[in-house]
Amino acid sequence: MDSKVIAFAREELERYLAKAGYRAQIELGLFEDFGIDEKVEDPFFDDGYVIKIHNNQGYIAGANERSVLFGVYRLLEEWGITWVRPGPNGDHFPENPSSPDLDINEKPSLRYRTMCIEGAISFENVLDMVDYIAKVGFNGYFVQFENAFQFFNAWYTHKQNPYKEPEEFNYQMVDDFMLKLDEEIHKRGLLFHRVGHGWHSFPFGIPDDPNKRPKEAPDWYVDICAEKDGKREVDKNGFYFNQLCFTRPRVIETIADAVIKYFNEHPEVDVLHFWLADALNNTCECDDCTKFRYADAYVNIINEVTDRMKANGITKKIIPIAFLNTLWPPIQEKLRNKECLAMTWAPITRTYVKSFPNGHQRLVAPEYKVNGYQKSYDIDENLSYLYEWQKEFEGDWIDYDYHLMWDQVLEAGGEGIAKIISEDLKNFKSLGLNGLTTCQLQRNAFPTSIGMTVMAKTMWNRDADFDEIREKLYFGTFGRGAAQPLMEYFSTLSECFDLALIKDEASGHDVIDKDADKSEDVAILRAKMETALKAMEEIEPFIKAHFVNYDPCEHDSWRYLDLHRQIYTLLAKSIVARIDGEYEKANQLRDECFDFVFKNEDFLQPVFDCFRFCGIAKGRIRVANPEIGAPALI
Ligand SMILES: [Zn+2]
Repeated sequence: MDSKVIAFAREELERYLAKAGYRAQIELGLFEDFGIDEKVEDPFFDDGYVIKIHNNQGYIAGANERSVLFGVYRLLEEWGITWVRPGPNGDHFPENPSSPDLDINEKPSLRYRTMCIEGAISFENVLDMVDYIAKVGFNGYFVQFENAFQFFNAWYTHKQNPYKEPEEFNYQMVDDFMLKLDEEIHKRGLLFHRVGHGWHSFPFGIPDDPNKRPKEAPDWYVDICAEKDGKREVDKNGFYFNQLCFTRPRVIETIADAVIKYFNEHPEVDVLHFWLADALNNTCECDDCTKFRYADAYVNIINEVTDRMKANGITKKIIPIAFLNTLWPPIQEKLRNKECLAMTWAPITRTYVKSFPNGHQRLVAPEYKVNGYQKSYDIDENLSYLYEWQKEFEGDWIDYDYHLMWDQVLEAGGEGIAKIISEDLKNFKSLGLNGLTTCQLQRNAFPTSIGMTVMAKTMWNRDADFDEIREKLYFGTFGRGAAQPLMEYFSTLSECFDLALIKDEASGHDVIDKDADKSEDVAILRAKMETALKAMEEIEPFIKAHFVNYDPCEHDSWRYLDLHRQIYTLLAKSIVARIDGEYEKANQLRDECFDFVFKNEDFLQPVFDCFRFCGIAKGRIRVANPEIGAPALI
């Protein structure tokens, strides 16, 4: 009898073959079921499939059950179906079906290919994303914090959208979402990743549920908070950002016990991320904590956790993170029980206008200072921390990255970031990286899913060609005849919404050089905005001519594209006004843009995170008039 995952793979295969109009006889199973002499190192994590089809007959064999499902989706893709985007009408079926013979034997380039929840999201968005990632070959889904409450809260309360009333929403609903999500993830054999931040709070009676949080921190809690400037108190930004005195035995024991309890209470969790508070330069300055580095205290706790995991027979992995003040590796403590670990490195301050190099270029990290971490855009500086950490841990390293978290919504066409994703992934091996966790907005396919698609294809095969992926995606998204002119259109938009100039990222550190003469850069950006405005005006009749389109996927794509044109026209005009020093007008145009976005949110919902778009457009456009200087943020 089929397992649950293989039964689902069969269901999907039959459903899609029927919908596309194919008749075929295809057997599904594991390598050993077909006597295939292929092996992977660790079938829990490692994927691979063999597909052999002749005259619509044959088999799909997987290294594990999840890989059988991946093989099904791969066959469907080879037979003309395109996974255009998550959500409604996201699959594109071929106009002229053909089912060529297939002889495929592949294993992915990266072991960890994980989608991480972010943004303002409904539960349907999450279900759609889980469905989508299996189709394009991600092998894990990561729910951050205890239950990702904040992301759902941002959607269901509709705080920013003046045209929407808050919906019924509470913490119990999120608990129920997680049960259903577990089912959907494991039906596909995907890996369920959980938690990350939170170990500094919920084990100490400070849960994510805002209704269950103490209003005031109890004295005993204040007593274990990080000491800053000689004083212990809860971080001014709240519990979520609050570091503790991580060398205190009571703190270490409580956290280590909590991890074991979590594993025991959550058998559905496949991989547990183990991070401290999400903050920088607020770590404990007491004598014990500053004796060595911050990462020494962290590694000491990690060792306590993995000792207990082994004592309790827990064979799953935890994944700690090198992030902000733990970017510096330990100098005193050594990681024990490395078989219980994979490590993540999060270059959260890096630029997205430049890709990773082929191999480490800078081998020495900046000098360690207690609470002296300096943000840097510089790729090589970010990578230097990884290089130093890799000397301490030679196992699997995963890049926890944010390509599709912020900047992609400023770079209207999405192709610039997609190229960075492609180049980064091609260089992963040379940097000792064996995985990517994409911390990203889930509603993220506007105007197309180019970023996610390139990511998925290049994680699977680092040699995948950017242009081929792009062309195939646009064929599926807009129909064969329109792909060529749209390739030119999107590359014009990406070139003109020039991130380096819009974000003023010419300088190396995260400090805008106020004295530099920017007049030339600003003049270039102004000209680029005018070019973009012209392109968005000229494309209108072409878009409208495609409104009469009965393919449901293409139908939605053209409407998204028309709204996209209108939204980014307003944004470009706002940027031009900023450059001209007309800041009031710039803000008016920007607000007009936001209003238009929110008016259209019902239709845009699955592909565009309107809530986050507004925050990003407010906070990350830094170009200013060279004579007047930067405007006050409103
Ligand atoms: Zn301390």
